[in-house]
Amino acid sequence: MKVTVDDGRCRGHGVCITVCPEVFTLNDDGYAQARAGAIPVQFEEAVRDGIESCPEHAITAQYGSGPHGQHTVGRVVDARSESLAHPFDGRT
Ligand code: SF4
Repeated sequence: MKVTVDDGRCRGHGVCITVCPEVFTLNDDGYAQARAGAIPVQFEEAVRDGIESCPEHAITAQYGSGPHGQHTVGRVVDARSESLAHPFDGRT
């Protein structure tokens, strides 16, 4: 899993940081940033909670890598199955 924060959407509420401080931090401008690189598996559930908690839908998580990887704000993209799976309500 890789995580990004859209700095055009983030408003610096800090909810994600409260939910998952191992992955999210505030930058010098007061906006969230995600840990670079692959997220350790033990933090993935907390990242999903952070995505769900973000009122601005600014967080994207991507599973897998390669040409099929896509980013969709507020959703988890599973490139291995090439399908989109909403992590909270089962919508695709
Ligand atoms: S909860 Fe969303 S809007 Fe608030 S700091 Fe985190 S990413 Fe930014």
